Amino acid sequence: MKEPGRVAPEETVGGGPPPSVYRKPNGDVPREAGDPLCLPPGISSEQFKQFTLRLAETSGEDNVTVITQSEELRQESYLEPSKCHDMFHIMGKEYFVASAVVSPRGVDEVQTIMRLCNEFEIPVWPFSIGRNVGYGGAAPRVPGSLGMDLGRNMNKILEVNVEGAYALVEPGVTFFDLHNYLVENNLRDKLWIDVPDLGGGSVLGNTVERGVGYTPYGDHYMMHCGMEIVLPNGELIRTGMGALPNPKADPNKPPHEQEPNACWQLFNYGFGPYNDGIFTQASLGIVVKMGIWLMVNPGGYQSYLITIPKDEQLHQAVEIIRPLRVAMVLQNVPTLRHVLLDAAVMGDRKSYTDSSNPLTDEEMDTIAKKHNLGRWNFYGALYGPPPVREVMWQVVKGAFSQIEGAKFYFPEDMPDNVVLQTRHDTLQGIPSVTELKWVDWLPNGAHLFFSPIAKVSGDDAKAQYELTRRRCEEAGFDFIGTFVVGMREMHHIVCIVFDRKDPDSCRRAHWVISTLIDDAAKMGWGEYRTHIALMDQIADTYSFNNGAMWKFNQQIKDTLDPKGILAPGKNGIWPKNYDREAWKIEKPIL
Ligand code: ADP
Repeated sequence: MKEPGRVAPEETVGGGPPPSVYRKPNGDVPREAGDPLCLPPGISSEQFKQFTLRLAETSGEDNVTVITQSEELRQESYLEPSKCHDMFHIMGKEYFVASAVVSPRGVDEVQTIMRLCNEFEIPVWPFSIGRNVGYGGAAPRVPGSLGMDLGRNMNKILEVNVEGAYALVEPGVTFFDLHNYLVENNLRDKLWIDVPDLGGGSVLGNTVERGVGYTPYGDHYMMHCGMEIVLPNGELIRTGMGALPNPKADPNKPPHEQEPNACWQLFNYGFGPYNDGIFTQASLGIVVKMGIWLMVNPGGYQSYLITIPKDEQLHQAVEIIRPLRVAMVLQNVPTLRHVLLDAAVMGDRKSYTDSSNPLTDEEMDTIAKKHNLGRWNFYGALYGPPPVREVMWQVVKGAFSQIEGAKFYFPEDMPDNVVLQTRHDTLQGIPSVTELKWVDWLPNGAHLFFSPIAKVSGDDAKAQYELTRRRCEEAGFDFIGTFVVGMREMHHIVCIVFDRKDPDSCRRAHWVISTLIDDAAKMGWGEYRTHIALMDQIADTYSFNNGAMWKFNQQIKDTLDPKGILAPGKNGIWPKNYDREAWKIEKPIL
């Protein structure tokens, strides 16, 4: 059983509750000079030293950093993200922290590191860039894990295939990188990528976490095709058509360098069981290459904003959206955004109010009026040559015109509306970081995402909005959120903005999200993704037939990773050598 390591040191480097409140289950081991802030569970100082020496032999000293002091945790911003802790911490800066970070230089090194971790029984937490903000960033679920920074050295665009409209990328390729590649090679008139709200994360990391963007290719996992994966024991596989050798491949090359099958990025399923899904939001492999389909430039584009003046018109708006979206008249992944999300991009809280209470309906009406916005704001786009767009627009405009007071805008009508101008780019796959701004709603702003799936129905949207707003306000926060409309459902993203340097604010944020998880489960709503601190709680809500799905996942985990070294605890899956209960994180009280 994995137990001892150590409690967090006495001193914090600022921010979050004192460490004593959150005891790490990996016990008390005396600390020696040169030790990391937190040793991996069950590993002595001496074993750790041996391990890092071997690691440096594999990857080079420059690619191994032991996290010895709080100073290493100074990186706090999306633009310069930390590789060893959660910048948006709710449990103190030093809770979710790596013991060391290694940056492999190639697939063979990833394999060697996995074998080494098996030998020393050291848990490893892979990440691509570490900009998974709101969900834990680069931080490991088990404090003291080895962070594996795949993006630093493995960041090549291996192929952009124009005819087949796909790319093959390594973990460190960001949305900006891929977009810039298209621009620099004069390919934007042929191909577009799909981007999430912020473009600094990796295409691969976002896809394996099942993140979304906003063009017609918004479901990234749906649009991926083919993976190359290092398994926990160091074995290398290619999924789908990648398992079929290319007759022209050089058998003398190591497998990861062999020319892949020509259909690897064209057909997802290959032959036999389709495996890719078990490597997403999972701990069964390290994805080292991934194919992603690119959207063919549709030959014309028009983004738009529809403002919906009254809060209670949310119901009517969602009822209008459903038939249009399932019929694909709404071609992309549109969003229905609460006024405060847009307002927060345009100014911090202080610029709107001196009150510390959650904003009232009257105050929100005033803010909406100031920015020429509705209480809800619908951002969509039309794709195709002019005649196609004109017909689509007639249908969309006609349907939304049923909403009393709805107004329709194109970006050129609102040159000063920074949100509309940014969405205009995002909805055609041009990455940006403008929307980072809403995190500054509060001083020392950080955020958590509460992300339940909702039916595209007025009743469900209204019920989720009322519940989440009420709980946010109980905790002293403003409701800031958006409904992201997928093909058959909505990702309702509630942005819980808190002050990371104020322990009380951190505690209230933690309280509100864990309370909402339970509230939502009682209504039959489940989240699609979460922060590392909440993974166990959410996993417990997916409990059909006595949690049969988790038993199944557990069996796969223990078979593929018998020593439990790859990302233990990720998404609530704990290897058999961990006591799941001991690692659970307590819910705070309000
Ligand atoms: P981003 O690229 O958006 O910055 P991260 O690199 O922080 O995202 O990755 C988010 C999460 O996705 C990680 O914490 C990890 O659980 C998982 N992940 C990322 N990259 C990989 C990978 N190459 N293989 C396996 N899991 C990965």
